[in-house]
Amino acid sequence: GGGGEPLEEKLALRPTSETIIGHMYSQWIQSYRDLPVLINQWANVFRWEKRTMPFLRTSEFLWQEGHTAHATEEEARQETMQMLEIYREVVEQELAIPVWKGQKTPSERFAGAVDTYSIEAMMKDGKAVQAGTSHYLGDKFARGFEIKFLDRDNQFKYVHTTSWGTSTRLIGSMIMVHGDDRGLVLPPRMAPTQVIMIPVGPMKLREKVMEAFDPLFDEIKAAGVRVRADLREETPGWKFNEWEMRGVPLRLELGPRDVENGQVILARRDTGEKVTVSLEGIAQTVVQLLEEIQQNMFQKALAFRDENSHLGIDTLEQLTAHIAKSESENKTSGWVLAGWCGDDACESKIKEETKFTSRNIPFEPPVQKKACICCGKESQHSVWFGRAY
Ligand SMILES: [Zn+2]
Repeated sequence: GGGGEPLEEKLALRPTSETIIGHMYSQWIQSYRDLPVLINQWANVFRWEKRTMPFLRTSEFLWQEGHTAHATEEEARQETMQMLEIYREVVEQELAIPVWKGQKTPSERFAGAVDTYSIEAMMKDGKAVQAGTSHYLGDKFARGFEIKFLDRDNQFKYVHTTSWGTSTRLIGSMIMVHGDDRGLVLPPRMAPTQVIMIPVGPMKLREKVMEAFDPLFDEIKAAGVRVRADLREETPGWKFNEWEMRGVPLRLELGPRDVENGQVILARRDTGEKVTVSLEGIAQTVVQLLEEIQQNMFQKALAFRDENSHLGIDTLEQLTAHIAKSESENKTSGWVLAGWCGDDACESKIKEETKFTSRNIPFEPPVQKKACICCGKESQHSVWFGRAY
C-alpha cells in the first residue's frame, strides 16, 4: 500500500541500492589493491507521494546514483567534494542555473551519512530545489555490510564510502527557472534543437528561397549546431509560436528579400530580440549568438536569485513580517541568509513558524551573520533558509 491506502496495481519493488551494493562490495573488496571502487548507475526509483508534481515530485523517477569505497577518509572526502563540484559545473554551465554549494545541517542530513552536501537552486517562484547531493558516509556503511580490506600494514580495516546523486528533477528545475508565459526557454547547451530554420514570404517565391535555404542549413549544421528546418505548410506565424513554446533558443527566418540582400533574420528566444545579419559567416554568427544566449540565461537567473536572497533579516519577527509583506504584494518571499547557533531546536522553530527550511550552509556565504535568527545567541553558521519543493 501507499500512504496507508491499497494500491490499484500491484508493484514489485527492489530494495534501496545500498543494500545490494554493500553486499557486493563486501564480496569484491579484500585488499587495498581492490580500492578505490566506483559504481554508477541510472535507475528508476519509486516513492510514495501524496501529491505529485510533474518532474519535481513524481511517484517514479529516474535518478543517477554513484557509490564509492576508499582506503582512507581523506580520499573519500575528496571524492565527495569532487562530485559536488561536478554537479555544480553541470547545473551552472549546461543548465544555466546558479546554485549554492554547501553543507546540509544535521537534521537535513541523509540518514547514515557523516556529512551531506548539496547544491541548491532557486526557482522563479522563490522556492528551492535541491539539485544534487553528495554524502561522506565514513565507515558506517562499511560496518553495516562488513566491507573490510587488508591494508598495506597488514591490518584489516573498514573502507570509507561515499554516495552521490541527482535526478530528472533537474529537468523540472530547468523548466521552472527559465520558462516564461510563452512556454519553454531552453539553454542552448541543453536544447535538442538549437536553431529552427523557417522559410518565409509568398509561396510562389518559395523555390527561389529554398535555393539559398538548403546550403545555409548545411553550413550551419556543419558547424556542429543542432539545426532543424520547418518546411511544413502552416503559416510562419503558427510555426514561430510553436517553436517558441518548445523553447528553441534561436529562430532563423529566410525570405525572398533576405536572399536578395544576402541576409537572414535571427530571433532570440531568451530576449525576443530580432536581428538582421549577413549571410556571410552565418555559421560563426549563430555559434557566437548561442553562446551569448547561454551566458545571458545564466546571468538572468543569477540576478533573479540575488534579488530574492535577503541578507538583512536578523530576527524571526522580521522574517515573519517579510513573508507577510511578500504575500500581500503577491511577490515571492525568496530565501533568507540567517545566522544559526547550531541548535536543532532553533532550526525546527524557524520551520514551524515560517515554513522556511534550512537549504544549506554555503561554503562561501555572501556575508557572515553574527547572531542566531531565532534565539539571538552567537551564530555558528550562516544558513540559507527558504521554502522548498
Ligand atoms: Zn539559536
